[in-house]
Amino acid sequence: MPGEFDLITTFFKRPSPRGDVVLGVGDDAAVLRVPPGQELLVSIDTLVAGVHFFPDADPRALGYKALAVNLSDMAAMGAEPAWATLALTLPAVDTGWLARFCEGFDALAGAYGVALIGGNTTRGPLSITVQIHGFARADLVFRRDAAKAGDLIYVTGTLGDAGLALALLQSDADGCAEAHRAFLMERLYRPSVRVREALGLRGLVHAAIDLSDGLYADLGHVLAASGVGATLRLADLPLSEAFRVCAQAPSVTSALQVDDAALARAELALSAGDDYELCFTVEPGRAAAVEAVLREFGCRYARVGLIEAEPGLRCVLEDGTPYRPRRGGYDHFATASSIP
Ligand code: ADP
Ligand code: MG
Repeated sequence: MPGEFDLITTFFKRPSPRGDVVLGVGDDAAVLRVPPGQELLVSIDTLVAGVHFFPDADPRALGYKALAVNLSDMAAMGAEPAWATLALTLPAVDTGWLARFCEGFDALAGAYGVALIGGNTTRGPLSITVQIHGFARADLVFRRDAAKAGDLIYVTGTLGDAGLALALLQSDADGCAEAHRAFLMERLYRPSVRVREALGLRGLVHAAIDLSDGLYADLGHVLAASGVGATLRLADLPLSEAFRVCAQAPSVTSALQVDDAALARAELALSAGDDYELCFTVEPGRAAAVEAVLREFGCRYARVGLIEAEPGLRCVLEDGTPYRPRRGGYDHFATASSIP
């Protein structure tokens, strides 16, 4: 059976695709060169078996997702991702599993020019931690505290797909066509990575955040940090076809305890986590430029509301009637439920 160091050599030591890696995997620390005039941005995310994924999940999808959620944090800052470290805790040495994990990780790392520059490998309950490092000019960073009253609120992609996929897995609900189900599962296991779009939006947006805990909660973080409020128009939340159809499953709607189907969909789209789309705010004069960038990348987008001076997050129905959502976003310490 291969030892720790054989594993590292086989799976993690590789030539760096980047000139700014002076020393990568193999020494006590990596040596890296930050480009002049740029700041270093660092973010870390852990995926724990049984909490963030089913222990028997496809390792390719896990490798992909572990990096994707980190790339999403770079996108949310308007930063260019560069280097990643990987801390893996594995219950046993399973070289087939590791090979597939690396396949998923490397496919995404390669697509974004990210170098794996170090990590840690230990034995224990399965958990995957990736730390990402990227660059941005300080004056171009998208900060949560930069939303201004009068800004338009945008989201990329569609909302709620990943959350619905999880709900379907947890309830074994059916009544959802195979193609729709496959689309939703893909959204859960291979979330969108909006790095290119974010880099295209540099200088055009005020505040941004990536949607890991649901729009309601994540936009709430932007509002709190910026000292402003907002109104969201529920009818404008962008929903995929698969979501529209499959969110009707009784096991999904009954858990929401909302009778009206459209409202149930809006509730789920607002509160479901794991979408990793971007939410950002834009002053109206820049809306046309922002939309041109997103169209150029073939990125679906929707204007979903308005930043206002009055604190708080308000939701309105199509006819302007206020609506108070039943559920907030996902909070690991407030919610008892997790993947079994
Ligand atoms: P140390 O004991 O000095 O902390 P390790 O023995 O843990 O170093 O790791 C040896 C080298 O392999 C280091 O350069 C480390 O960054 C790298 N490494 C270990 N595990 C991983 C991993 N899962 N992914 C990438 N690099 C790794
Ligand atoms: Mg050491």
